[in-house]
Amino acid sequence: MNNRLQKLSQWMKDHDIQVSFVTSTENVFYLSGFFSDPHERLLGLAVFQDEEPFLVCPAMEKEDAKNAGWVHEIIGYSDIQNPWEFIEKSIHNRIGKIGKAAIEKEHMNVERYEAIMKLFNGAEFVSAEEKLRKLRMVKDEKELEILREACELADFAIQTGCAEIQEGKTELDVLAAVEYALKKKGVNEMSFSTMVLTGSNGASPHGTPGMTKIQKGDLVLFDLGVVWNGYCSDITRTVAYGDINDKQKEIYDTVLKAQLAAVEKSKPGVPCSEIDLTARNLIADAGYGGYFPHRLGHGLGVSVHEYPSLTETNSLLLEEGMVFTIEPGIYVPGAAGVRIEDDLAVTADGVEILTKFPKELQIIK
Ligand code: MN
Ligand code: MN
Repeated sequence: MNNRLQKLSQWMKDHDIQVSFVTSTENVFYLSGFFSDPHERLLGLAVFQDEEPFLVCPAMEKEDAKNAGWVHEIIGYSDIQNPWEFIEKSIHNRIGKIGKAAIEKEHMNVERYEAIMKLFNGAEFVSAEEKLRKLRMVKDEKELEILREACELADFAIQTGCAEIQEGKTELDVLAAVEYALKKKGVNEMSFSTMVLTGSNGASPHGTPGMTKIQKGDLVLFDLGVVWNGYCSDITRTVAYGDINDKQKEIYDTVLKAQLAAVEKSKPGVPCSEIDLTARNLIADAGYGGYFPHRLGHGLGVSVHEYPSLTETNSLLLEEGMVFTIEPGIYVPGAAGVRIEDDLAVTADGVEILTKFPKELQIIK
């Protein structure tokens, strides 16, 4: 079994859990190396303390799973077969009575839960999520290498976006050019819907790009990321198109100061809360405390949002191998929105900044 499966099995031994049945695409990928998007069809990975794990997936994806490097049993089922019958057989070939089973409680739906309750009759169900989040939180060198590449592509996307900015182009014009350029570099999926927001649209942290035309004197906010070999990047840059006013400049400078200070604070042993508060207090001191309505950052990896969460209350200590964003923002409704977001990896004594596009205000002529 691979190292990740071994860690999960060890946790199961420690907690007297006889079987883990993992069903989210992200955790199946993390544990097996096989990424599948089976839509409504069942994808599952059964892990035991000592017995061989098995994968269950649509029959048409069996070869893909093998090609992805899965060397253990694969149960493929067709669209007219009931996968639970196969699962029952494979589990009972391996183990007898199940006292405790781990499932992803947040991901499991009621229909599958009913099926699994029948299968593991009388078992106690515990959550596998917390353990898997902790495993995924600390990245190994191979994962870091992929994340570096994902971030390099995110930098390229911002650069492409900046070059596209022109009087009269819409947010969607610029967005389409960015994603087209990425596709030509082999990126087939974004981490989330790309954001290009101009003028006061940038004042909504989760705004939707549309037909608004970019005009001189606007701030243009890009928030985007790519999925690269299963791993996500996530970058935000806000740039100026032509000369901006003093208020916009003041907001930008405040966000940048907060972002740099939080990055500077980040190293092993520092609580997540301290990183968040470093930026938050700076923004509050500048008089914009009420305009920074979200946490400072989030972990990223197989999912674009994962552990650790950088909030003002999270006492978790940073450790080497964690990868997360630092993304303070100030959003003044009707006026301007600025956010600056980097992806960072914690090293032995500080951080490596994975996204490298400049953060000093870029003025596009
Ligand atoms: Mn982002
Ligand atoms: Mn983010």
